Amino acid sequence: MAFSLNYQKIDDILAKLSSDYDIYAPVRLVGEGKFSATDRIQYDKITRAEQIVYNEKSDFSPREIISPITQTLFYFTENEFIENLPESRSIIIFARPCDINAFKRLDKIFLENGDFADSYYKSRRDKVHFALLDCKGGWESCFCVSMGTNKTSDYSLAVNFNSKTVEIEVNDSSFNKYFNDIKQCSYQYNFVKKNKIEVELPEIRPEQIEKISDLQIWQEYGQRCKSCGSCTAVCPSCSCFTTRDISYKENKKAGERRRVWASCLHPDFTEMAGGHSYRETAAARIRFRTLHKIYDYKKRFDTVNMCVGCGRCTDTCTQLISFATLLNRLSQEIKKLSVLEEGVEYVSKSSSS
Ligand code: SF4
Ligand code: SF4
Repeated sequence: MAFSLNYQKIDDILAKLSSDYDIYAPVRLVGEGKFSATDRIQYDKITRAEQIVYNEKSDFSPREIISPITQTLFYFTENEFIENLPESRSIIIFARPCDINAFKRLDKIFLENGDFADSYYKSRRDKVHFALLDCKGGWESCFCVSMGTNKTSDYSLAVNFNSKTVEIEVNDSSFNKYFNDIKQCSYQYNFVKKNKIEVELPEIRPEQIEKISDLQIWQEYGQRCKSCGSCTAVCPSCSCFTTRDISYKENKKAGERRRVWASCLHPDFTEMAGGHSYRETAAARIRFRTLHKIYDYKKRFDTVNMCVGCGRCTDTCTQLISFATLLNRLSQEIKKLSVLEEGVEYVSKSSSS
């Protein structure tokens, strides 16, 4: 069923929903953008429709609603610890198909990783309902269609904001009660069918990994990358964190353990005792991140790629590194490798005959 509402009516419904759910949506933080006199679009709790930025891509993803940037795991003294499992109400997140698909990627890591489910992630994730936000055709750097993340069936509501009205498709009958006496309409969510950018995903065979690791393009991108980690901070499917113990000043024997987002692009990400590191150069780090997003994760979980093609890493990079361009270039390089390998095989076959 679908309904058409004016903004007064949608605010009435949001007020009713707010008594049952915490509602998150992209909002505008005026003057807090990356450059002077620019805004930042970021997820926050909302109670009114006018707070929702529906016609721009958010700079940050909704990931932090479920997996906060910093989170206290437990409090400790010298004798005991108290776990700090977040208490959460049910949650509605206004999100686009790519971001909903990104949560599925995070679910694999936090919930389906062997026998262990991350209780901190699970305690909030179990309570999430999605309100699918219309993409308005998508944006310059999106490549969700190439990644197969332009569609989802995992939503309770689908919402299309217009200047004077809001159309809502109800896909979960438990939400019907909020829409009694509202005028019905024929709205159906329009999934994006084509992006401006197309990405040709590289076909990687496991035996090629060593040669791919030696490709010259990593040096080239490594010279441009400043290892700032912004690309990982905005990514909806990045999941890495580190842990920190904080001792309270008043009582050094008490404190808390926090987990804090980490970035594989930071030079200290793989630092070990003695100051050694697995990936000492920016080239090695950008290679790792790229292959993790379009090869390692898929191989490990025998599933889809980790990258959902939201393009936020491209949007945020001050070095103008486009992830879509990087992937297309990598595809070309791997094709060249494959041709060379076939040539070597042919030459060796003919020379042995
Ligand atoms: S945002 Fe750009 S410069 Fe910063 S770590 Fe990512 S690729 Fe490197
Ligand atoms: S496009 Fe970039 S930010 Fe978006 S999911 Fe892929 S790697 Fe992450």
